Amino acid sequence: ARQFTRPLNDLANQFNVLLSAIAGAERVFAIMDEEDEFSDKHGLDRLDHVKGEVAFTNVTFGYEDETTIADVSFRAKPGQTLAFVGPTGAGKTTIISLLSRFYDPTSGVITVDGKDITSVRKEGLRRHMAFVLQDSFLFEGTIRENIRYGKLSATDEEVEEAAKLANAHSFISHFAKGYDTLIDSDGGGISQGQKQLLSIARALLADPDILILDEATSSIDTITEVKIQQALRRLMKDRTSIVIAHRLNTIREADQILVLDKGSIIERGNHDELLEADGFYADLYESQKKKLLAT
Ligand code: ADP
Repeated sequence: ARQFTRPLNDLANQFNVLLSAIAGAERVFAIMDEEDEFSDKHGLDRLDHVKGEVAFTNVTFGYEDETTIADVSFRAKPGQTLAFVGPTGAGKTTIISLLSRFYDPTSGVITVDGKDITSVRKEGLRRHMAFVLQDSFLFEGTIRENIRYGKLSATDEEVEEAAKLANAHSFISHFAKGYDTLIDSDGGGISQGQKQLLSIARALLADPDILILDEATSSIDTITEVKIQQALRRLMKDRTSIVIAHRLNTIREADQILVLDKGSIIERGNHDELLEADGFYADLYESQKKKLLAT
């Protein structure tokens, strides 16, 4: 996960610098668009409407000479949840980095609604996605601004509505300044679990066609954990969700579990099917059951 959050953190840092330099966050996006036009090939598709079908076909990729992802194929129908499981270093994060075009495959094709994503502008692709990552990026600003980052045109009512759905409203309301509470850049003053709830609120507000979720591994107090689970369920409902899964519930409820090892998908199926198959997943499940965050 660390490797993946780096480009995103850079994006957040860049955002911060620009925010203080320019008034009006819309400008920031305009500038990022321009940059994207330079870094992308010309004549790229804007990808206006998306149902959320995501497919990898024989995707191979390596950061340097080594092969990190080897001949990976899968397909998520619109609205499905795909859970990637597997040991550290298996390539789970790389798959979501490829899907969001922080890197492009060495060979093979990644499509969204049947469209090769290398023919789509990065901005055009990413505005259909929302990210909820282990280290949720919060920037220096108020809680309201941090949630609104999901949809810059959102009204205060929409922000609060999203916070309510994300089970964040009650803790926000307990702060003396409520939604106007300032968060400093390292997110001091709010807990890890609360950060996740804010990040879920932001994603709910963004209302993406494709959710990219890297579930947190750190344990969080039980009450907050239940809130997170419930909020995530709301967020994942009826949208394509590509999840690096650590929570037992998420894995059990996924439409497909893809077991990744050394860059290859070694097993696939739903929870019952994979237990039945009595292979790698069944072993992993038995050995990890106690460690997985069960609620
Ligand atoms: P997982 O998310 O399953 O833990 P990753 O996708 O993060 O796996 O990593 C897969 C492999 O790719 C690992 O061997 C990791 O060290 C390597 N890797 C990840 N990111 C980079 C990078 N930016 N540069 C070079 N190697 C990387």
